[in-house]
Amino acid sequence: MDIYNSARVGAGIFASKDGPSVMSTGQNQTEQRGHTKVDSGIDSGPESTPARWPKRELGRFESEDPDGTTLVVIGGVHGNEPAGLIAAMRVLDTLRAQEPAGFDGRLVVLAGNLPALNLDDKEARYIDFDLNRMFTDEQIAKPASTSVEHGQMQAILAALRDQRTHGDRMIVMDLHTTSSDAPPVVVFEDSLPARLFARQMPMPLYLGFEEELDGLLIDRVTNELGSIAVVIEGGQHFDPQSIVVHEAAIWAGLHAAGILRVDALPHDRRPGDILREAVGDQAYKVFDIRYRKPIEHEDFAICPGIEAGMRIKQAVTPIAIEDGQPITSPVRGRVFLPNMQARKRIGDDGFFIVRHIGEGWIEFSARVRRQEWIHWLIARMPGVYAMDDGSLFVDADLAAVLKRQVFHLFGYRLVRHDQRDGGHGAMRVWHGISAFCRALFRGPIKGGPKYDDLRFWIVRRHRLDHVDH
Ligand SMILES: [Zn+2]
Repeated sequence: MDIYNSARVGAGIFASKDGPSVMSTGQNQTEQRGHTKVDSGIDSGPESTPARWPKRELGRFESEDPDGTTLVVIGGVHGNEPAGLIAAMRVLDTLRAQEPAGFDGRLVVLAGNLPALNLDDKEARYIDFDLNRMFTDEQIAKPASTSVEHGQMQAILAALRDQRTHGDRMIVMDLHTTSSDAPPVVVFEDSLPARLFARQMPMPLYLGFEEELDGLLIDRVTNELGSIAVVIEGGQHFDPQSIVVHEAAIWAGLHAAGILRVDALPHDRRPGDILREAVGDQAYKVFDIRYRKPIEHEDFAICPGIEAGMRIKQAVTPIAIEDGQPITSPVRGRVFLPNMQARKRIGDDGFFIVRHIGEGWIEFSARVRRQEWIHWLIARMPGVYAMDDGSLFVDADLAAVLKRQVFHLFGYRLVRHDQRDGGHGAMRVWHGISAFCRALFRGPIKGGPKYDDLRFWIVRRHRLDHVDH
């Protein structure tokens, strides 16, 4: 697809919108009604030189009451994904034009990877490193001058820490788009407060990313700042519909955050209807990530006919070709985020496999994780060690029998795990009983296990499950 042609269609959407828009008059827009000078980043051709996205905070709209909730919308964490920012600027425009009664709180729009966003190369996801894999203690400890993205990460973190100090609570929506054509989704760490927020959006919910990927921005926000944080994948990179979806998601987010009811403003189309139409029959369905395939050779290519959402068979269906070999998945499930980027690098995500989780399991999980005595009991089981930092070390044989889904049910996140298999059916029960008995008769390890003792998985309760909101 010619991205500039499709981008011009995107520009047309803005032009058709009623009322003034910071986006509506083409390239390198100048100041309007005191707004920040911002260009859409999509409707300008490669010849433009001034920065399309000039600074970190692109705008805000707030009520006079300093308390209340702050919704931070961040877009362009990947440089080739400006759709979320364009949508956010549209929302700010509408709010400023309409000044709706009942707006209680704050909407702040932040740009992600500014140097990558402002490159003429519209396919540039990042300059040196993938910014959305860098928010780890290890990378944060490095100086901002280490790489372009280290500098960007420090600046984004500083902006978010600053926002966290205002108002009662902060919620972060990190807006992305995908290389493959796929319906929009919400991705988040599965805490009860985050569920409550995300389930007010009629979209499919994807859990467990943070277990497969280190250094996600939303993971940092959730676990350092104690704030609800979600990723919205809004559609394909340069599809103008992705902007429409992201705008609907922001209105839905303002509603879910209690900042502005979605019916407080007239919308050409109701945001909920836009989202429902975009996701088809997927609204409110929950999926759990079960596997991530990292790219190991640069010739990695998704097989023809493989699409997001497609069911695949464990160790049978070829999903990609890499180094001349067909690549299958060690687990069954559905393909998610197949990497169809124009440029791929070793270490990038090749594809994910996800599994659908039934509604009953979700409800059951919400009930059991509120039972503090269950957590008390788990921490005192033979083979389980409660550490000072709140994490649990679990005998890997026992953990493999319990499996990822049981920890998830109880609201635990896998911090360290391996692919060992606890077996199926009667074998699984037998393995479980023997692992339990071994742990019981061995007795506790004096002083607890060492951190690098790989006989143990490490799990931890979702932080937001036991933080007040
Ligand atoms: Zn992205």
